[in-house]
Parts: sequence; structure tokens; C-alpha cells
Amino acid sequence: MKRDHSKLICDIGELTALFTDTSNLDGLLQNIVEMIALHMEADVCSIYLFYEDRDELVIRATKGLLPSSIGRVTLKPGEGLTGLAFKELRPVIDGDVAQNPHYKHFSGIGEEKYASFLAVPILRGQTRIGAMTLQSKKKNYFTPEDVNVFRAITSQLATTIEMAKLLISLDTPQRTETVPVVKDLSLKFIKGRVGAQGFADGKSAFVTAPSLEMFKASALEAPMTLEDLRAAAASAEKDLEAMQGQIEAKLFDVAALIFAAQIMMLKDKAFIGAMEERVRTGVHPVTAVKDVVQAYVARFASMSNDFMREKKYDVMDVGRRVLDHLTGVSYAAGQLAGKVVIAQELLPSEVLKLSSQNVAGIILLSGGVTSHVAVLARSLDIPLVITDTPSLLDVPADTRILIDADLGNIFIDPDKDVVARFAEKEQLRAKAGETRLLVRPQTLTQDGTRVHLMANINLLGDAAVAEDYAAEGVGLYRTEFPFIVRSDFPAEEEQYVIYRRLVEMMKGREVTFRTLDIGGDKILSYYDHSKEANPFLGLRSIRFSLRHKDIFAQQIRAILRAAAGDVGRGVRIMFPMISSMDEWLEARAVVTDCVAELKANQIPCQDVPTLGMMIELPSVLPMIDALAMEAKFFSIGTNDLIQYTLAVDRTNEKVADLYTPHHPSVLRALKQVADAAGRHGCDLSVCGDMAHEPKYMPFLIGIGIRKFSLDARYIPKVQSRIAALDMQQAAAHAGELLNMLRLKDIEAALQKMGSDGE
Ligand code: PEP
Ligand code: MG
Repeated sequence: MKRDHSKLICDIGELTALFTDTSNLDGLLQNIVEMIALHMEADVCSIYLFYEDRDELVIRATKGLLPSSIGRVTLKPGEGLTGLAFKELRPVIDGDVAQNPHYKHFSGIGEEKYASFLAVPILRGQTRIGAMTLQSKKKNYFTPEDVNVFRAITSQLATTIEMAKLLISLDTPQRTETVPVVKDLSLKFIKGRVGAQGFADGKSAFVTAPSLEMFKASALEAPMTLEDLRAAAASAEKDLEAMQGQIEAKLFDVAALIFAAQIMMLKDKAFIGAMEERVRTGVHPVTAVKDVVQAYVARFASMSNDFMREKKYDVMDVGRRVLDHLTGVSYAAGQLAGKVVIAQELLPSEVLKLSSQNVAGIILLSGGVTSHVAVLARSLDIPLVITDTPSLLDVPADTRILIDADLGNIFIDPDKDVVARFAEKEQLRAKAGETRLLVRPQTLTQDGTRVHLMANINLLGDAAVAEDYAAEGVGLYRTEFPFIVRSDFPAEEEQYVIYRRLVEMMKGREVTFRTLDIGGDKILSYYDHSKEANPFLGLRSIRFSLRHKDIFAQQIRAILRAAAGDVGRGVRIMFPMISSMDEWLEARAVVTDCVAELKANQIPCQDVPTLGMMIELPSVLPMIDALAMEAKFFSIGTNDLIQYTLAVDRTNEKVADLYTPHHPSVLRALKQVADAAGRHGCDLSVCGDMAHEPKYMPFLIGIGIRKFSLDARYIPKVQSRIAALDMQQAAAHAGELLNMLRLKDIEAALQKMGSDGE
């Protein structure tokens, strides 16, 4: 039977609805099987969870089999068709199980009447969570396409199911945890590096080690009842839903499910029920919350899986929020609002959470300015300074801190003079902000040569900023951001919705989609990248996509579909980190196959896509002419080109002084690419951070580059530098730099050109 698969893939809205409508975890799993059975038009859908300690799969939810099978039907890995799918990590399909010697029949659960069978493993990254099965009375009912759809649905739900599994099995209270000691210290001023521009004035707070202290003190508060506890939990849940709603409006493409784990905990009967149980036996509600939170934190903290260990912060957050409502002391709600957060390390998802909590600014003690946490902070408009100063962790909490992230300055416990100067500068800056209104729609040099300024986009919110600054299109959409901030690979449908929205926002203008560029510092929490000694030289970027062609093809199909119709005429597809002709051809072949597949299925798409590549590896330089004849366009990723040419880790603060865009080898490489592109009519742009540094404009324009893609907030500065530029002078300057071998000579020439142009 032919089913309409376009409706089958669950979208995020549907998933979120599952959380909202569920009052307990078993109910959540039950909702999932019912929804899937309905979508897949199957008679039966069941979830089996794997319990490592028993080495057993157990039915936890079913639609179609008798409810008495739940918790009773168990299988060993490898046993029966479900056990086989789980053990061999592959789908198992059978059109008539009666003929299959491998099939394990359970009597008394109503299984006899089902002929067709399909099982897929539930996996989150490398973690085996269980298996999901479908059954139908009709023979030969499930098709290979059903297998793909069922796998996609299962992988999208894996994290949710894993959370549910974990919460269901958590019930042993334990108490361990040490509290970090904060030392006093007399730091006053630190010069850091600019991660994301802006100003912040707030009290210090730390996100490295949220304190368990408040869950340990058990002093009794005012008299309270069970009803008070229930009301506090309900209010906490409302808070979280409101926060989720808020962030969804602001960050459509990345918001989904950020707070889902916490909402789920509040709905979990075991979690809230354990608190209620204690209250019934006479324990004070505040103490009951603290006891249960501590027990959960201890269990999460002892898990071997990093992803699960992190969940202890979610439990603490939820606990704080409930206590907040119980005691009326506003601790959780605005805890980080307006604060300057100091962190040793941050994940992109944590940056998002901080943004939703309205932090004033961030000081990060590791990572380089081109790292993706910095890039994300720019998109979210959070001032960020990076500094390798571990003693900042010893600054007492709630110390006033000023950040001038335009210059990378950090002032700790500033005196009156500093505060006054800071306020003055902030006012000037606010005025300067108004210059965005002065941006001209066209960028021209002094003598009338046209230059195109496009925007780099990481989140959809950046598209509105691009509009504000009159960017001519999107020169680089870093599609990995929706991947990085999620807890699982986004499904094709989910990607399509995000991409289509961008295409519609750009109304036919040029939009360059860079395919998934993960690895290096762009880590997915749900994929095990950890075993690589040198992740920047490892399975990253296009190598990852070519090694996981199913994920790659899903993305390509989503882009091609999003580019359908006239509004998508400006869409281009760009492959990152191409190192050879072979990789280029292999990536291009995936696109060709996807176009053929979509057309065969009569799915609207862009059928003659414009394909190009990023130039970011020195290995392509000796063959740059051949590549320029193949690709429709090049975009130079100077961030990586510099890193790989000079063997300087772009995220390592310790070698930041060696990361020099104006190194003679980098300048010569840029010239070589510009010449080859010019010779073969290959469209050329620069999309790395060099494109937003006004001091490099004379050189880049001097060697013939006419298109730049940059964070749109830098457009006014770059545009005014270009407007002051004389083309002859630019060409002479470029020639001069290309003849130099010493950094200090190049720096002097850049400085001279800078002051001439100002
Ligand atoms: C680059 O490498 O210059 C680039 C634009 O890509 P990313 O910063 O995303 O690696
Ligand atoms: Mg790059």
C-alpha cells in the first residue's frame, strides 16, 4: 500500500505537543507508539527499552498488543527479530513472520494475527537505547520506503525516549557532591580578545559548577502543604513553557526542545511523586524537593555517559525553579539575567540557554575568536570576551564586572572613574548604532567600482539583521548550527522547514547554503567525535558527510526542496573543506542523485543547482585551475585557510599571536585563488573573518576580489572603508604586500594604508 510519507515524519511541533499533553513518562511513550501507529497505518507499534544491568529488552509501551505485555515481555539481544535488529543495529523486515524460524512468538499478548513485521534499533549516536517495532495483519505490508521513514522517526525520538527511560529507572536516593570554594582576589583589569562585540555591565556569575549548596541546607521554612508543592511544580512548568515559547519566537530554528528535558521532569510522576510521597510522611515540602533533587543529581552525576551526566544541571535547574515558587524567593527565574557569566568552557547549546536567560555578557576562558561559540554569541548579540586567565574563576560571585567587548577589555570591581568612562562610551556606541540606517544599498569604491557585501548567517535571526544592514544576499549560511544545538540529527523535514523560511525571507536573492561542516570545534552532543586525537585533522566537514551519505543526502534533499520555485532561484550549494578533485566529484554526485530521486518522485525542487566549494585547505592550491573549471563558484574560508596553512589551531588562545591573516603565504595563496577564478570565470568571494576587517579590504580588492560575505553587523565599517578606496592605490598596495617576506614589513604597510584611507 502506498502511504503519504510527506505527512509521516514527525515535526518538532508535534514532538513538543507530546511533551505538553503528557502527564507521566509511561504516558509519553504510549503517546509516541500511538502517534507512530497512526502515521504508519500499522496495527501494532511497540517500544522495547534495553536494560544493561539485565542485558534485556523489555516492552515499555505498545499500541495493538495487550497492555499486559508491558514490562512482561523480555528478549535478550539477538533473540527473535526485535533482538536481532537491536543486536546488529539494523532494520529487520519480514512480510510473513509465520515462515521465519528467527521469529519469537509470545503467546497471550495478542500477537498471533500479525503477519508483517518491521523492527529498527533506537540509537542516540553510538548509545543503544532499545528497539521499536511495527506489525500489520496484512502480509508483505511494509515497504523499503517505510523502513527509511520509520528509521527517521525513531532517530528523531531517540533522545526523548532515552530521557524517559532514564527517568523511569531513577529511584535510588544518594547524596554526594562537593561544593566549589571561591577565593578572594585582587584582579582589576584584563585585556582579552573580542569574541562578539558589545558592552556589558553586571554582576559575575559562574556556569562551570552550579552549586548544590542550596539543596543541602534543610532548615525548615514557613508551614507549607502538599497543595503548595503541587502549585509550585505547576508554576515552574508554566515558566519553562513560557521560556520555551519565548525562545521559539526569537530563535525559530534552534529553540525546539531546549527546555524539553526539564519540562519532562516536571511531568514525571516518579520525580514529583517522590517529593509528594515525602510530604505525605510529614517531611516539609522544601526539604522534600531538596532531598529528591539531590538523589537525582547524584544518580546522573555517576553515569558513564557524558550526555547523561550533563542532565544533572537540568535537575538542579528544575529543583531551583520549584523551590523558587515554593518559597517566593526569586532565585531561579532571573538567576542569570543581567549577569556577566564567566565560564571555563561552553557548548553552543549552553550559549543558547544563556541567551534565553538574558545574560548581559560572557567571559570565556578557552577557545579562539573564530570558534563557533563566539560565532553563535555574535548571532545572539551577547558580548563575549575570550581570555586565557584561569584566575578569573576565583573572582567572588556577584562582583561587578564591566565588559567592553569591542576592545576585549574586562574591568573587575571597577572604581567610579572607570564606570563613568564606560557609561560615556556606551552612549557613543548607542549613537554609532544608529549609523546602520546610513548603510547604502550599493557598495562602491571611491572611483565607482562595484563591490558586493553579503551576509554570513548562522541562525535565522541573522537574516533580519542582514536585512537591517542592507546585505545583498547570504554569502554563507552555516547550516551546522541547527545540527549543533539539537540533541539529535534534525530530520529532513525539520531542515526543510528552516531552509525554506530562509529562502522565503531572502526573496530570490542569492543564498549560499554551505553543507554540514561539523567536527573540529563544532561538536554534536549526540555523535561520538571524542576518540580523535586531532579532531581538526579528523573526520570533519565534507569528510563526515561523505562518510555518512544518508545524513548528507537528507540535507541536500532538504536544500533542493527549499529552493523550489522562483523564490529559490538564488540558492547555491557549497561544499566545505574540499581537499581534492575526488571529494568534489563525490559530493557533486550525491547532489545529482538527489535531484534525480526528487524528480522521479515528482517532488518540487531546484533541478539545476549551482554548486561551488569553499577554499580552505592548502592542498587545493596546486590544482586550483582545474577546480576553477569545475566549480561554478569559490568562497574562500580564510579562518580555516589560515589555520591549515600556518598549522595554528584557530581555537587555541595560546597560539593566537601566530594566527596571522597577513602572513605572506596566506596573502600569496589568496592571490593564487583570485587569479585562477578570474581566468576561468568562476565566481569568487571571501567569507572568512578577513572579510570583516577593514584593514584587509585594500589588499583583497587590489587582487581582484569583488564579493565578501561577513557578519552583517560589520557592513557599515567595511562599506565606509571601501568607499574611501581608490582602485589604483589598492592594486599598488596589493602588489607591494605580495613582494614582502617579513611580517613586520607587511604590518607596517597595512598600517600605512589604514591611516591613508582614514
Ligand atoms: C572559514 O573557515 O573561514 C569559514 C568561513 O568557515 P567556518 O568559520 O565556519 O569554518
Ligand atoms: Mg571553515
